[in-house]
Amino acid sequence: MSESMNYDVVVVGGGPAGLSAAIRLKQLDPNVSVCLLEKGSEIGAHILSGNVFEPRALDELLPDWRDRGAPLNVQAKNDHFFYLTQNHKFRLPTPPQMNNHGNYIISLGALCRWLAEQATNLGVEIYPGFPATHLVKNDAGQIIGVKTGDMGVDKDGSPTELYQPGIEIFAKQVILAEGCRGSLTELTIKDYNLRQPDSPQTYGIGFKEIWQVDPSKHKEGLIEHAIGWPMDHKTYGGAFIYHAENHQIYVGYVIGLDYQNPFLSPFDEFQRFKSHPKIRDLFDGAKRIAYGARALNEGGWQAVPKLTFPGGVLVGCAAGFLNVPKIKGSHTAMKSGMLAAEGVMEFLNSGHNTYNELLNQSWVADELKTVRNIRPGFKWGLLPGLINAAIETYVTRGKSPWTLSNHKDHESLSLATESKAIDYPKPDGKITFDRLSSVYLCNTSHEENQPVHLRLRNPEIAINHNYKLYDSPEQRYCPANVYEIVKTGSEPYLQINAANCIHCKTCDIKDPLQNIQWVTPEGGSGPNYGGM
Ligand SMILES: Cc1cc2nc3c(=O)[nH]c(=O)nc-3n(C[C@H](O)[C@H](O)[C@H](O)COP(=O)(O)OP(=O)(O)OC[C@H]3O[C@@H](n4cnc5c(N)ncnc54)[C@H](O)[C@@H]3O)c2cc1C
Ligand code: SF4
Repeated sequence: MSESMNYDVVVVGGGPAGLSAAIRLKQLDPNVSVCLLEKGSEIGAHILSGNVFEPRALDELLPDWRDRGAPLNVQAKNDHFFYLTQNHKFRLPTPPQMNNHGNYIISLGALCRWLAEQATNLGVEIYPGFPATHLVKNDAGQIIGVKTGDMGVDKDGSPTELYQPGIEIFAKQVILAEGCRGSLTELTIKDYNLRQPDSPQTYGIGFKEIWQVDPSKHKEGLIEHAIGWPMDHKTYGGAFIYHAENHQIYVGYVIGLDYQNPFLSPFDEFQRFKSHPKIRDLFDGAKRIAYGARALNEGGWQAVPKLTFPGGVLVGCAAGFLNVPKIKGSHTAMKSGMLAAEGVMEFLNSGHNTYNELLNQSWVADELKTVRNIRPGFKWGLLPGLINAAIETYVTRGKSPWTLSNHKDHESLSLATESKAIDYPKPDGKITFDRLSSVYLCNTSHEENQPVHLRLRNPEIAINHNYKLYDSPEQRYCPANVYEIVKTGSEPYLQINAANCIHCKTCDIKDPLQNIQWVTPEGGSGPNYGGM
C-alpha cells in the first residue's frame, strides 16, 4: 500500500457485517471501489462466536451459498433448555426464540473466511493486519476516511528500524463494522452525538471453548442452553453447549456485565459450570483444543444509536443488532451490512444515505423490537426476569406499550466492603483450567516493544479508586490475566500484561470510572483464533 489511497467506500472490520456490506456494494455496482481493513492477522483471526447460525441474511445475500461451498455443514437438530441447581438439572420448555429449526452449527470464523473469498472474487480489496486507528476528518468535521496504524513504533512512541507510517485511506463513505465496542465506533458515537443519553448500550462477556469429545457422547446437531447455577439469582448469565462437526463441542458461558459483586470472576464461573455433576461427564476423556472470550451487546433495540453520521454508517454489533434472547447477532449483522450498502450506494448516486430508513423498515427492526423488553427484565433477578420474558413472549408478543430501559454496566458494581468474596475451586487441569493455560490456546501475540494499547486515562485511579473501593475487579473480569495487582514495595500497583490481551473489550466497558481505554495495537496483533 502507498501512503494514501482513495476508494469510494472503506469498510473497517472483516466480520459478518463488514464482509456482507462489501459484497452487497459490489453486487449493486461492480465499478464501485471498496477496501476492507481487518486488524487480525487474517480474516477470522479475531472472530469468536457460539455459533448457531440463522441463514436468513445469507439466503438473501448469496442465495446459491450451498453450491458455492459455504461452511454450513451441521444442521440444528434438537434444542434442550435446562435449569441447573448445584447438583441437579431440570429440563424446561424451550422458549420459541431458542427454537433452532432450520439453523446451522458453524464456526463463524470459517464463514467469514469464506465470505472474504466471495468478496475478493467480486473485486473487494481486503487488507488483514491493518487496523484503522484514526478517523480522518475535513475542516467541516465530516469523516472523509481512516488512517491505519503506524508499524515499528517502540513503547515510548519512537520509531524503530522497522518503522512504517500508517496510511490514510480516503473514501466517500466509511462503514464502521468493528463489532461490539469498536474503538473508532465509540469515538464516532460520541463525536456526533449518535446515542441518546438515556439509551446506553449494555454488554455481556462471552467465553467459548472447543473440545474434542468421545464420539459416543457426541450428538451432532444437538443444541443445549442452561441457566441457573453457578450464577446467583441476581446475576444474568447462562451456558451453551453445541454439538458441532468432527465430534467437536462448542461450550461457552455468557455473563451480563451489569453484575454487581466485584469479586465475581466470569472466567472462573465458566470453569465452574463445566464441573457440574450433570455436565462434567461430557468432558471426561475429552481434550480442550481452543479457548477465547469476547464481549457482546445486550442492549437490544432501545440501545441502537443513530446509524448514519457525516461521512458514513455503523453496522452489525458496532451498532448493537444482537438479538439477546436468541443469543444471535450474525444474521442481523449481515443484514444490516447489506442494508448499509444499499443506503451508501444511494448516497453515492444521489447524495442521500437511506440506511436509517431501510433498517427501520427491515426484519432486523421487527425482530429486535419484538424482544426488546426481555433482557432488561432480568435487572429484577432471574425469576421476575423469566416471568417478564414469558409475558412478553406469550401474552403481549412484543407489543407491550412500554419499553424497559437499560443501565450503564460500569455503574453497577457494589463496594468490596459490602460484597461477599467468592472462593473459586482450584482448576483440576482436566475439565477446569487457569487463565494462563487458557490464553495460551488463543495464540495471542503482541510485539512487546510497542506502545501499550490499554491506556489508563488517569493512572492514579487504578489504585486510589479501583483497588481501594472494589479490590481491582479488572484482575477478575479480564479473561486473559492482563491486569495484576503487584505488591512488591509498600504500595500496590497495577501491572498491565498487554501482550496477553485477546481483544474482548471487557475492560473498556466495565471499568467503574471508564478509566481504561482500549485502542488498536500494531496490525496483526491479538488472538489467532483458528475455528471460533
Ligand atoms: C460467546 C458468543 C456467542 C455468540 N453466539 C452466537 C450465535 O450462536 N449465533 C449468532 O448468530 N451470533 C452469536 N454471537 C454474536 C455474533 O458473534 C456477533 O453478533 C457477530 O459476530 C457480529 O458481527 P460483526 O461483523 O458486527 O462484528 P465481529 O464479528 O465482532 O467482527 C468485527 C471485526 O472487525 C475487526 N475490527 C475491529 N476493530 C477494527 C479496527 N479498528 N480496524 C480493523 N479491524 C477492526 C475485528 O477484528 C473483527 O474481525 C455470539 C457472540 C459471542 C461473543
Ligand atoms: S485487557 Fe481488556 S480487552 Fe484485553 S483481554 Fe483483558 S479485558 Fe479483554
